[in-house]
Amino acid sequence: MNLLELESVEVSYSRRGRAPVRAVAGASIDLRQGEIVGLVGESGCGKSTLARVAAGLISPTAGSVRFEGEALATPSRRARPRREVRLQMVFQDPYSSLNPRRRIGSQLADAIRINNLLPPAERERRVVELLEQVGLPATAIHSFPHQFSGGQRQRLAIARALAAEPTALVLDEPLSALDASAQAQVANLLLQLCRELKIAMLLISHDLAIVRQVADRIAVMYLGLIVETGTTQQLWTQPRHPYTRALIEAIPHADGLGTKPESLPGEVPDPARPPAGCRFHPRCAQALERCAVEAPSLIPLDQERTVACWLHTPEKHEANPQSLDRGAFAGD
Ligand code: SF4
Repeated sequence: MNLLELESVEVSYSRRGRAPVRAVAGASIDLRQGEIVGLVGESGCGKSTLARVAAGLISPTAGSVRFEGEALATPSRRARPRREVRLQMVFQDPYSSLNPRRRIGSQLADAIRINNLLPPAERERRVVELLEQVGLPATAIHSFPHQFSGGQRQRLAIARALAAEPTALVLDEPLSALDASAQAQVANLLLQLCRELKIAMLLISHDLAIVRQVADRIAVMYLGLIVETGTTQQLWTQPRHPYTRALIEAIPHADGLGTKPESLPGEVPDPARPPAGCRFHPRCAQALERCAVEAPSLIPLDQERTVACWLHTPEKHEANPQSLDRGAFAGD
């Protein structure tokens, strides 16, 4: 069952005196109950904007977002519908969801109280349970956020999100501010919470190596578009899109032999002036003549796998690519 569905989402920002930016240019993605989907791409590809749309924090310029089968409410100052409390977001900087001047116990109790989930007499027990769920001792109740390490603060931010008893979490680069050891520990915690509590997670990261360790499926984003999707095993062992392949080749080798940075030359272009045709063509070593003028559509290769690249587009799909059935994910 799809818990969260984003369909043909576009997000544009207007800028005074300058060309508008189309940060997300028509991306679709879905999240099923109890799975982790990784959304990866370089900085500036639009993945954090898409994360905010997925969490209901900003409205898309076009397209739709559905959670538990219903459209997400438009973000406003009014309280969100109770149903949407089960969709929570965790940010890169845990301080954004923790008050530095209040003790952890009262902050977690507040998160329970705000959502009217338990009577006052049961809140302390639940706070201790939340701390245990994220691997912190009950004594953390009495401490302030600054008394914890970066990894522990991210655990606290996750505990705060868990206080709302979510069915889905959107996590925007939750590991990128942590050292390698804390990254591995928090990644394991996410996997454990997903498996034990059946919480679905959309994990946004620029680090494909980390996402690979926890995600069931991965969507690769480039310059506002999803360019490839598949199971983690498929993408890691048989990447089809040249950009996915380049991201994998750019990962440092465990044997210390280094990376192949030449496979991903240059920078992500300005999203206000995306290249014509395939947006990746100026950086693609396998670009064809048509790549500079025609944009490939995302087409299904099998039940889970989709790719947007002329190298993998069967002739029968070329006449009217928009009419194809979409796979697990889709985008323009
Ligand atoms: Fe490279 Fe062309 Fe495929 Fe784009 S469509 S990734 S430019 S081969």
